[in-house]
Amino acid sequence: MVIVWSMSGVLENQLRRMDGKIVGEGFHPKAGQPHAEVFALRDAGDLAANATAFVSLEPCNHYGRTPPCTEALIKAKVKKVVVGMVDPNPIVASTGVSRLRDAGIEVITGVEEELCRKLNEAYIHQMLTGKPFVTLRYSLSVDGDLLDQLGAEVMESGGYYSQLLQEYDAVVVSSFSLSTKYFLSSKEPGAKQPLQIVLAKSSGSLQLPTVSNDTSSRTIIFSNKEITLELEASQKGIETIVLDRMNLAAILEHCKHQGLCSVMLDLRGNTADFAEILQEGFEQNLFQKIIVEVLPILGASNKDPLKYMQQNRRLRNLTSRTLGESILLEGYF
Ligand SMILES: [Zn+2]
Repeated sequence: MVIVWSMSGVLENQLRRMDGKIVGEGFHPKAGQPHAEVFALRDAGDLAANATAFVSLEPCNHYGRTPPCTEALIKAKVKKVVVGMVDPNPIVASTGVSRLRDAGIEVITGVEEELCRKLNEAYIHQMLTGKPFVTLRYSLSVDGDLLDQLGAEVMESGGYYSQLLQEYDAVVVSSFSLSTKYFLSSKEPGAKQPLQIVLAKSSGSLQLPTVSNDTSSRTIIFSNKEITLELEASQKGIETIVLDRMNLAAILEHCKHQGLCSVMLDLRGNTADFAEILQEGFEQNLFQKIIVEVLPILGASNKDPLKYMQQNRRLRNLTSRTLGESILLEGYF
């Protein structure tokens, strides 16, 4: 018998080799809630006894906001634990593994370690630097124009954008999302929804959406002093924070205090809202990753000689290949 958690897609080969059956799965929904191990053990029930547990990260061995997972594994009488990577957190580092071994459980470490490091990249970064892991995302036309659009179906379940919303603890968007009454939500089954952080920089007034946000995702508006929000934000269940000037450090500090360790900046809509934040982010090295979606569209590039291309024309059969360090796109008019 096998228990798996937080390992989607990672250990399929291992499972096949063992001819195992999954008896329980779990993931860590958010800070303050029980860790993945607890959910997987709950899911497995009595079948956890004598099972092998696969974990992407070394089980914790200290009383933090939740009791240690090592004790839960021992209590459930798990026989063997396969650990993707040892926890970089100095409080945990290797004590989880030794606690399990002391209790007579067989432990193997470093299995599919590279993949597990990628799965845990935000946690590792946050643990080593004390700052949230920040990713920039944007969409481009084939001729290199920034687009507001997303690709067809990327917001649907299984689409990359829906998966990003599940993966990231917070998503930073422009004030455009308010005027369009548009709240982001992941369509993955049982997904935890990210905190939606709205930047409202432009002066003047900003009308809040007349539909109230659903309760599964929270929204905070960061604004500068010049803006007045029509309708009381608090009445909509929306928190507002006024800054002297828009700055990323303040936003990341807020995320950190909320126990959020990954943040995605989604560059769409009123991109002027992002200006200072992008400048600051690059100057202070606050960005860790970039995700770019190229759509099968010719934009409105004004650079010679691309300006002669037809604007907003769609391309057919756009495909990509990785060539060494480059990506080659091919499409048809
Ligand atoms: Zn734990």
